[in-house]
Amino acid sequence: MNIHEYQGKSILQAHGVPVQEGFVAETAGQAKMIAEELQKKYGTEVFVIKAQIHAGGRGKGGGVKIARSPDEAAEVASRILGMTLVTPQTGPAGKVVHKVLVARDVYYKGESDIREFYMSILLDRKKSAYVVVYSTEGGMDIEEVAASKPDAIFTEVVDSSCCLHEFQMRTIASNLGLHGKAYREMTDFIRGLWESFVSSDASLIEINPLLKTSDDKVLAVDCKVSLDDNALYRHPEFEAMRDLNEEDPTEVEAGASNLNYVKLDGDVGCMVNGAGLAMATMDLIQLSGGRPANFLDVGGGANAKTVEAGFRIILKDPNVRAILINIFGGIVRCDRVAEGIIEAYKSIGNINVPVIVRLQGTNAIEAKELIDRSGLKVIAASTFSDAAGKVRAALN
Ligand code: GDP
Ligand code: MN
Repeated sequence: MNIHEYQGKSILQAHGVPVQEGFVAETAGQAKMIAEELQKKYGTEVFVIKAQIHAGGRGKGGGVKIARSPDEAAEVASRILGMTLVTPQTGPAGKVVHKVLVARDVYYKGESDIREFYMSILLDRKKSAYVVVYSTEGGMDIEEVAASKPDAIFTEVVDSSCCLHEFQMRTIASNLGLHGKAYREMTDFIRGLWESFVSSDASLIEINPLLKTSDDKVLAVDCKVSLDDNALYRHPEFEAMRDLNEEDPTEVEAGASNLNYVKLDGDVGCMVNGAGLAMATMDLIQLSGGRPANFLDVGGGANAKTVEAGFRIILKDPNVRAILINIFGGIVRCDRVAEGIIEAYKSIGNINVPVIVRLQGTNAIEAKELIDRSGLKVIAASTFSDAAGKVRAALN
């Protein structure tokens, strides 16, 4: 699960990690009040208004703007709120902004002593370990740095038998060229970041820019956090951070029916039980000349209800020109799945794309009888290659 910058920063703060102070606003009026508060509390004169969407590159897309008074903060916020922000990471359709973060400008006192670093903690699957990736070249173009100056990006591998060691935190601070107060602040920052990562069961924390201010403070200006879905049950406190506006509505609906659904951009919908069979089926569709419109695993305990829910979800996709149902009856009985298909057909009404069904395994014969007797226009297939041929025929 991805969360917003302001939510990620609240996790960091709970672990004593310094961040650029700010609060989230949903209206221009709130933005003004927050700016006034920051002014009272810190004497802030310059504010930064940042669109909160689940995508980076907001600076480039016009989603990060400076304001020089609470009134201007309100004015800038009113322009950003409700806008469709297009960044290099949102895709051409962009994302609608529902919230802005109003924060104090931390690039104060000129730009001369300021340094922008990059730092992230993530899993390196090749090394089978967590790594801290960091660079002196932080800011908006880290992808460009990675491509053109890979030497400017450093990695510290976390000791899987223990943790990120103190000496490693010092190595990082020293490789970033820091001394004195900034060096100490950086080691504290890294310790807090590591603690935030572990205790929240995050799969990624990325800070870019990680700023050293002109008065040698070290703080997170930006913050991207991805939480491990499989560990969310251990964190009821994160439940409220989920923002359904940022998720594909069909995937949300599928999740509610316990279906494992991922939307893809092809034209053949598929419904399968088991992730391995689902992947093989997607290959099969590709070989037959179509392209999968989705990944859908109805799971081992599929019944008439889940099949119907799956059907409805697939049919919501206007690109779907054919549907392939490929079920292996192991624990799930094929006749139950067949009942689900028949029920779905009846209750959804005019399904006008060809449906190719391959039911094999437990009670496959009973399933075929049920479908034949139902009089539905379903194309039965027996083998994988038979199914592929029938998908091809249906598409032509
Ligand atoms: P991203 O573009 O989505 O990664 O959003 P960031 O939070 O990283 O902000 C983009 C850029 O805005 C940063 O790289 C900074 O250069 C700039 N920025 C962010 N906060 C401030 C601030 O307080 N003052 C100034 N002057 N610039 C800021
Ligand atoms: Mn950033």
